[in-house]
Amino acid sequence: MSILTFKGGVHPYDGKELSKDKAVRKILPGKELVFPMSQHIGAPAQPTVEVGERVLKGQLIGKATGFVSTNIHSSVSGTVKKIEKRLVPNGSKVLSIVIENDEEYEEIKPYEVPDKWTKEYIREAVANCGVVGLGGACFPTHVKLAPKDENAIDYVIVNAAECEPYITADYRRLVEQPKEVIEGLKIVLKLFDNAKGVIAVENNKPDVIKNLKELTKNEDKISVAELKTKYPQGSERHIIYAVTKRKINSSMLPADAGCIVDNVDTVYNIYRAVALGKPLTERIVTISGDGINEPCNLQVPFGTSHSKLIEEAGGIDENVEKILSGGPMMGQAMFTLDVPVIKGSSALLAFKKDEIAHAVTTNCLNCGKCAMVCPEGLICAKLAQASDANDMDAFIKMHGMECIECGTCNFNCPANRNITQSVRTMKRKVQAMRRKGKSE
Ligand code: SF4
Ligand code: SF4
Repeated sequence: MSILTFKGGVHPYDGKELSKDKAVRKILPGKELVFPMSQHIGAPAQPTVEVGERVLKGQLIGKATGFVSTNIHSSVSGTVKKIEKRLVPNGSKVLSIVIENDEEYEEIKPYEVPDKWTKEYIREAVANCGVVGLGGACFPTHVKLAPKDENAIDYVIVNAAECEPYITADYRRLVEQPKEVIEGLKIVLKLFDNAKGVIAVENNKPDVIKNLKELTKNEDKISVAELKTKYPQGSERHIIYAVTKRKINSSMLPADAGCIVDNVDTVYNIYRAVALGKPLTERIVTISGDGINEPCNLQVPFGTSHSKLIEEAGGIDENVEKILSGGPMMGQAMFTLDVPVIKGSSALLAFKKDEIAHAVTTNCLNCGKCAMVCPEGLICAKLAQASDANDMDAFIKMHGMECIECGTCNFNCPANRNITQSVRTMKRKVQAMRRKGKSE
C-alpha cells in the first residue's frame, strides 16, 4: 500500500527519541486523589458517593447524566474526603470527588462479562466502563459506537498516528500490547457488519507497522495503513481523508462518511471493558521535554497529581519556563502542577525555553505561508484579520468554522502571529451566537 496523507501540514521537530524506548512503568498515586466529574465532552457526571464513604478501586463514583456523558470510577480504594470544585489542567474549576487513598488498592468485582457478546452488550460495557476518546477529545465512546445507521459504516479506523511531537504513549501501547489493541478492533467490528478495520500508523514507527502487519496477516477484515509522518495527520478529518479519500466538514460526523475513528488507547480500553469488564481508571502519560530530568512513559491512575509525575520522572530542571498538558501543538500551558491526571491527559511536557513567549511578533507580511500549510485549505491570515476586526460575516463566508485549531498556521508564520488564537476566539463567538439563536 502507498504512503497515505492529506494536503498541507508541517514537520515540527518531534522529540520522540527522548521517551520512545522507555517502557511503560506503573506508578502508585499519592495520598490524595481528585476525580473531576467533567473530564469528557457532554454533561458532567453526577456523584454517586458521599463524604465519609469508603470506596473501592474500580467503583463507580460519578454516574453519566444522559446519553452524551460518561461514568467515572475510582482508581484507588479509600475514603471520600470532600466533594467540591477543584482546578483541572485547563485552568477551570470543576466539581470533583476527593478521595484519600488507603493504599490497599482493594478492587471491586469487575462488571459481569457474558459468554456471548451481543451488540447491545458491547455498547453497554463500553458505556458502563466510562470509555472515552483518549486521543484528546474525550468524546464518550459508546455514543460514537451507536451511529444512526450502523450498516452505513464501512471503515473502522484505529487512529495510531500520534502526530503531536514528544508524545509516545500510543507508540508504547502498540509496542507492548498490540494483541489487545487488535482484539479491541475486532470487538468494534462486531458492531458494524459491513466494515473493515484499518490500523493507521505514521511511517516514523516502522517497527510497529511491521509487527501489526505480521499479527494481522490472517485477519481478512483488518489491514494496516502507513501514513506519511506529518502534523496534523492524527486529526479525525485528515486521517479519514488519508485512509478513504472521503472529506468531512464541521457539520458532519465521521459516521456521515461511513467511518468510525477511535484512538489506539481507546480501542485498547474497549477490549478491557468488553472482554474483562474493567472500567477505565488509568492511562499512559508521556513525561518529556528538555526540562524533564528522566523522560518516561508512566501508567498513571486517574486523580494522581501532576506533581507526582514530575517526581517519578526524576524532577524538573530549575530553568524550566514552560509546562504543558498535552503536546506542544495543541496542549495547554499549565500554571500549577497541583491538578489531577484525567482521561484526556496524554502528556506532561516541560521546556527550558518558552519559544512562544520569547518570539517577537511583527505585522503580517502577507506572505501566505500560513495558508500554504493549513490542512483545511483556509486563508488563515484573512480569517485572523476578520476575527480581530470582529467581522463575523466575513469570517463565516471564508469558512472560518472549518478551522480545527491545529496550530499549523502559527508554526509556519515568520511573523510569529498567533493566528489560531484569533480564529478560535471568533469561532467561539459564532458558536455562542448559534446556540443563542437555537434557544430563542
Ligand atoms: S489552526 Fe485553523 S486556520 Fe490554522 S492551520 Fe489549523 S485549521 Fe488552518
Ligand atoms: S504566515 Fe504570518 S506573516 Fe505570512 S501571511 Fe500568514 S499571518 Fe501573515
